[in-house]
Amino acid sequence: MTFAATVLTLYPEMFPGPLGVSLAGRALREEKWALDAVQIRDFAIDKHRTVDDTPAGGGAGMVLRVDVLAAAVDHALAAHPGCPVVAMTPRGKPLTQERVRELAAGPGVIVLCGRFEGFDERIFAGRRVEEVSVGDIVLSGGECAALMLLDACIRLLPGVMGAPSSGQEESFENGLLEYPHYTRPVEWEGRTIPEVLRSGDHAKIAEWRKRRSEDDTRSRRPDLWERHVGARV
Ligand code: SAH
Repeated sequence: MTFAATVLTLYPEMFPGPLGVSLAGRALREEKWALDAVQIRDFAIDKHRTVDDTPAGGGAGMVLRVDVLAAAVDHALAAHPGCPVVAMTPRGKPLTQERVRELAAGPGVIVLCGRFEGFDERIFAGRRVEEVSVGDIVLSGGECAALMLLDACIRLLPGVMGAPSSGQEESFENGLLEYPHYTRPVEWEGRTIPEVLRSGDHAKIAEWRKRRSEDDTRSRRPDLWERHVGARV
């Protein structure tokens, strides 16, 4: 089954962009996923093809009109009934690997990209749109966030990644950061690869990796560590 990605955007020329190369690009050509980048402006109703208006209550910037957004979402849903609709917004729930896995296991995703000050709030309840953030940062538009979300989904699709095992040990898959990696040369500017990784003792290597994974998560991401420990008790 082909994972159907529909992106609703004012800049469809930004797609597939980076998703046209490497793993995602090959998978796109092999029809493991499909992309439809839809111009939101095509759903404007007036003769000037307006997509935005000034914020109610005043203030800087412009807001995307709910009627135009709804027409674009309805068009995408008509082609992909039941497909989850996700809006990229810093006000959304932080994206997690768990949510990415769920989306990748489904029929596809309809991604709504904001610009200017963002969306008229009524779109979220009016069309069951899930609000998703890619981090506590502010981008100029939802397109880069949509590319991130799609990239994360696509690499999980069957047959996209080389070795199926490489997805499983990754950071976040077990609630922890992954252990660090090394490769040749064994010595570089006086720094060596940890001895244990060169020992050939697989049990010891596994033990070292588990410990580093736990230690690094505890020190770098106390939030993840708390959740991990909480889930075990
Ligand atoms: N006024 C908004 C920011 C708008 S930025 C606010 O302060 O919350 C313009 C658009 O960029 C947004 O509509 C959204 O689609 C996208 N965007 C910006 N930051 C984002 C983030 N962290 N995650 C996902 N999308 C983001």
